[in-house]
Amino acid sequence: MMRKPIFYILLGVIFIMGLTGCGAAKYRLSFDGFGFGSEKTSYAEGETVTFTYDMVATDTDYRFFADSGDVKLKQEFDGKHGYVFTFTMPAHDVKISMESRNTMTMDPEAHKPETDTADPGNKEDSMQTETWYCPECGTKNDTKYCAQCGFKKPQ
Ligand SMILES: [Zn+2]
Repeated sequence: MMRKPIFYILLGVIFIMGLTGCGAAKYRLSFDGFGFGSEKTSYAEGETVTFTYDMVATDTDYRFFADSGDVKLKQEFDGKHGYVFTFTMPAHDVKISMESRNTMTMDPEAHKPETDTADPGNKEDSMQTETWYCPECGTKNDTKYCAQCGFKKPQ
C-alpha cells in the first residue's frame, strides 16, 4: 500500500507548519494616531515587539500607553527614529495610544489683565489719577500702589 505513508507525511507536514507559526495564534498590534511605525503588525505571544514614533516635536510632552495593563512599554530615544519602544506581546491584541501636550501653551491665568483697569467709568479708576505721596517712602504716585515700594495708596 503506497497511500498510507503519504498520508502520514502530509499529516506530519501540517503538524510542523502548525508549530512553526503558520497556524500559531498571532495578535494584532495597532496604533491610535499618526507617526507610529512597526515592522510587523502581528506578533505571536512572547515575541518582542518593536515600534517607533518619529513625529517628535521638542515643545511637546508625549505619553504613550497600551490599552491593557499587562503591556509594559520600554521607551528609548533614538536620534534617527525618534522614540523606540519595545514590549513583549501578550496573548491578546494590543493597541497603542499617545497623548501629547504642547508645553508652549500659554496659561490664560498668567496673562489676565488687572481687573480694576478694565472699566474706564469705574469710580476707583478716576481716583487713581490723583497724585499722592507715599507715607512709606515719600515717592509721588498716581497709581493705586506706590511705584517705589508697593505701598497701597491710603484711602
Ligand atoms: Zn512708597
